[in-house]
Amino acid sequence: MHHNQNHILEDILETITASDNPDQSLDRIVRIIADRFNIDVCSVYVYNPYVNNLVLKATVGLNEASIGIIEMDIDEGLTGLVIENMAPVFIVNPVTHERFKYYEGSGEEVYKTFLGVPLIYHKKVLGALVAQTLAEEGIQKTDIHLFQNIASQIAATVAFTILQEDRLQTSPPKTQSVTDETTDITDKSPLLRGEPASDRVAFGYAQYIFETIDFDQVHQIAITDITKEIKRLEKAFKSAAAQIKHVAEHTRGISDQERAIIEAHLMFLSDQSLRKKIVTKISHNLCAEYALKQVILEYEEMFKSIDDPYLSERSADILDIGRRVLGNLVGMSGDSDQAFTRDTIIVASDISPVDLLAIRQPNLKGIVLAKGGRTSHTVIMAKSLEIPIVIGVEGVLDTVRVNDYLIVDGVSGFVYANPTPEIRQEYERRQEENKQTLKKLEGLRNKPAETTDGKFIRLGANIGLLSDMMLARQYGADDIGLYRTEFPFLLRKAFPSENEQVSLYERMLKKSNGRSVTIRTFDVGGDKFLSYVDYPKEDNPFLGWRSIRLSLDLEDVFRTQIRAILRASAFGKTKILFPMITSIEEIRRVISIVSEEKESLNQQSVDYDRDIKLGIMVEVPAAVPILDRMLKYVDFVNIGTNDLMQYLLAVDRNNKKVAVHFNVLHPSVIATIDQIVSVCNRFEKQLCICGEAASVKVCIFLFIGMGATHISMVPSAIPGVKQFIRAIAHQDAKDALNACLQMEDAKEIGAYLKEKLGNLIT
Ligand code: PEP
Ligand code: MG
Repeated sequence: MHHNQNHILEDILETITASDNPDQSLDRIVRIIADRFNIDVCSVYVYNPYVNNLVLKATVGLNEASIGIIEMDIDEGLTGLVIENMAPVFIVNPVTHERFKYYEGSGEEVYKTFLGVPLIYHKKVLGALVAQTLAEEGIQKTDIHLFQNIASQIAATVAFTILQEDRLQTSPPKTQSVTDETTDITDKSPLLRGEPASDRVAFGYAQYIFETIDFDQVHQIAITDITKEIKRLEKAFKSAAAQIKHVAEHTRGISDQERAIIEAHLMFLSDQSLRKKIVTKISHNLCAEYALKQVILEYEEMFKSIDDPYLSERSADILDIGRRVLGNLVGMSGDSDQAFTRDTIIVASDISPVDLLAIRQPNLKGIVLAKGGRTSHTVIMAKSLEIPIVIGVEGVLDTVRVNDYLIVDGVSGFVYANPTPEIRQEYERRQEENKQTLKKLEGLRNKPAETTDGKFIRLGANIGLLSDMMLARQYGADDIGLYRTEFPFLLRKAFPSENEQVSLYERMLKKSNGRSVTIRTFDVGGDKFLSYVDYPKEDNPFLGWRSIRLSLDLEDVFRTQIRAILRASAFGKTKILFPMITSIEEIRRVISIVSEEKESLNQQSVDYDRDIKLGIMVEVPAAVPILDRMLKYVDFVNIGTNDLMQYLLAVDRNNKKVAVHFNVLHPSVIATIDQIVSVCNRFEKQLCICGEAASVKVCIFLFIGMGATHISMVPSAIPGVKQFIRAIAHQDAKDALNACLQMEDAKEIGAYLKEKLGNLIT
């Protein structure tokens, strides 16, 4: 058996991520293993503790018809021995072994080797992975370790297969009576999967927010009760009409034109023929949402094709009404100022960072989005608010209904709707375990992030809100590497005044307890829009009127912020950072603005830090080749890995569809960051690496190898990162970086780093 172990683990992981369901993953996994190692039989058996037996769950080589049928007691057979011992069992010539047991029709008697390794997940035995070969040397003792490794990789998948089945059939009797009063677990209780975007888990009841659902999110799901579906539809129509009336009655100054539209909407909602069409579809077994979608889209088409401009424009109204009814069907309240009375998980197609800020409240425990990107500002904001979030959960809007009880696992990306008590208990236990781990890490708070060979790394915190400063201290940040000032701007009705800003920054600086704070001038546009700025309609807002470009166009507002930061600098160590710098002209302009504002403060004898340091974010690739020239103008550099990757790889950081291409281990990303670090080191300019990659351990390893000594991240990541840095050597990081710089693709780099760092990154 000669195969590179890294590749197989990679392939398996990829398979798990690409499969639609755990059963499919298991099937593919056994195929990969059988194929790569040239073994004749590879099977997965699952252990059922309630009846103490093992069931064949996936196989290559044994009779596939026996999947789900071969069952064996633990005290019989060699696989049982694996479970009994909780350790690998390797036997040559198994037929001669006293525990060998022949299962009619399995065809196992011809195999000359047997290797079984237990599948263990969270210290529980879930089953066994078994390999058998016809040749006596087909498997050797030295292979045991590799198989154990594979088993640990697939254990989670097996766990989820079991959990899913538990819900469907085999839950033990005691659980069937335990139902939550508000949920109906006899309904299907789905397991959904998205992209993990957090390091936490949340529990709570599903709630939709308005204006987030559209028909492209709606798919057919099987229904069992037609009458119930029709009732749901009727109710949704009624509530939609009531909402429109409510808006009409409670909004002052409605124009005649608006009133006409409202009337038209109401008329449409009471149109019997429309409703009849939908009901007919439901009686053909379509779910209400899907039936509505079909009919509304038909109407839309019909109106669009009418050769009368007035009528054809009404197609937009039809869609509006349809969306409103849809919102009511899935249970969105239509009310944006909701107060959550209990632990709540927001479910939405997408949500802007502004909306997230607007609805945040103590009872908002988690977020599940059908769309979204890992480095979107919504995710960044959710992390800073310490709200667990899972993004890219396709199908969530079809499956989750209001008041479903959800577990949102931001670590694995799994979302459970109405999980069984076992799953709940398992997660509660994990919460407890995590708390203990965090407690242990607390001991690191006052220790430096120093590699084993004595290299010190400064760990900064990225913050956005005043409350983040507390987190930065709590998690032991050395400084504030990035303060995103736009967040306080987002919620207001107008730009905050100079005094308001001074008082905010002053409070920030005072709370920092002497740590330096890098204040970044507001970075709006892209995915962060201020309600009080009139934005042009842009096809590509991230390539458009964003960040420093917008600031320099709104020069008064920009100057106000510069003055506010300068005045606040009297109260603590402050640096000013300018985002999205693309050219030296921009640098010259911001420097002259700062000088002029300094001068005017001098004249008014206002106190500020005269030696305040100015820096730029390098996050547009255009800055990299001219960085040597840019550095003459500035004191320091922050790398924004999120945008640098987005612009370098031409991958929208928020677009789920291309999320697989947003790969930080892309050789060009590594080479580009390496180039920035070396130029800064050559010119002896301070450099801090920010962005989400700065909390990813394999990246940190490379950054340290490049010679970076300052990284900044979400506060909660600091303890784990510190622990990691204290376990690695600078020299190893340098060697690894050099090796990676020669490699051809992200996959190879990822596999290499994984092998190199082993359990330091799990
Ligand atoms: C970045 O782009 O990596 C960054 C740190 O800034 P932001 O995420 O706010 O764009
Ligand atoms: Mg950025």
